[in-house]
Amino acid sequence: MMKTPDLHTHSTASDGTLSPQDLIARAAQQGVEVIALTDHDTLAGLDDAAEAAQTHGIHLVPGVEISVTWGGRTVHIVGLEVDPACAALRRGLDGLLAYREERAAEIARRLERAGWPGALEGARAQAEGELVGRTHFARFLVQQGAAKDLRAVFKHFLVKGKPGHVAGCWTTLDEAVGWIRAAGGQAVIAHPARYGLTRSKMKRLIEDFRACGGRGIEVVSGSHSRDDYFTFARWAREQGLLASAGSDYHGPENPWIELGRLPALPEGCRPIWEQPGLAGLGPAWFADASQGAVVNRPTA
Ligand code: AMP
Ligand code: MN
Ligand code: MN
Ligand code: MN
Repeated sequence: MMKTPDLHTHSTASDGTLSPQDLIARAAQQGVEVIALTDHDTLAGLDDAAEAAQTHGIHLVPGVEISVTWGGRTVHIVGLEVDPACAALRRGLDGLLAYREERAAEIARRLERAGWPGALEGARAQAEGELVGRTHFARFLVQQGAAKDLRAVFKHFLVKGKPGHVAGCWTTLDEAVGWIRAAGGQAVIAHPARYGLTRSKMKRLIEDFRACGGRGIEVVSGSHSRDDYFTFARWAREQGLLASAGSDYHGPENPWIELGRLPALPEGCRPIWEQPGLAGLGPAWFADASQGAVVNRPTA
């Protein structure tokens, strides 16, 4: 049976709803053998996750998902197998957390003007870690009855042109990839289909990313359609990038996405988890994984 690595997940250290321990326990229960914890802009969950992974006998890839501003939009870069002790990475992420505080205050001011006071305290109450993100605002607003679910709150309040929107001002692509590399990790473009880029802009993003030392792209993602798998498998092949796979799991509230329930990579992809040292995985694991790695073919 193929073993599925899940290289993109979130815990309560950022905007997931399971603690790192519970996330790992659930992954073990789901039969996941290799998992990366990739919280937004923080490494705070990694120690607890590592301990739980040892208890459950599953392999943890220490990771992070860094918020980047590129070409006037927000792009997410996942770092895999990063050394959590790396000073350059920690300093960089501290800067992003500080910016998140400023942004949160501004989001709250805007929501207050739109008739929703108390949002900063409300969002903070939704956050178990130190990081406050839009998801925490969204959970608060659902609780307040502002909209029926997270998706609706984002659509009506938190995206461009809506009252609680603040244009992100994150780090640069170059810095994010640089911190990941300084920490000995591999940089991966997260869920590329989500950015709504034209072909020429996608090409430029990939070229810029490679020029900074980026290595991989998420081909299989919880937020990709089946068509997207093939589109990005092709980008990966043509642009010489390694392929990654991750659910982008945020918690059991979203029943559409489960840990480790990921299809095999399309044919011709070079899996990033076969990189020596990525997960410290032994040759037996590679042999096993590659057996199942070429099953999907485009439908029509
Ligand atoms: P932030 O990094 O604080 O701006 O928040 C980004 C996070 O918000 C993403 O990682 C998702 O977890 C969540 N998110 C973004 N768009 C949506 C949406 N339309 N519906 C639900 N969650 C969303
Ligand atoms: Mn998130
Ligand atoms: Mn993301
Ligand atoms: Mn994510």
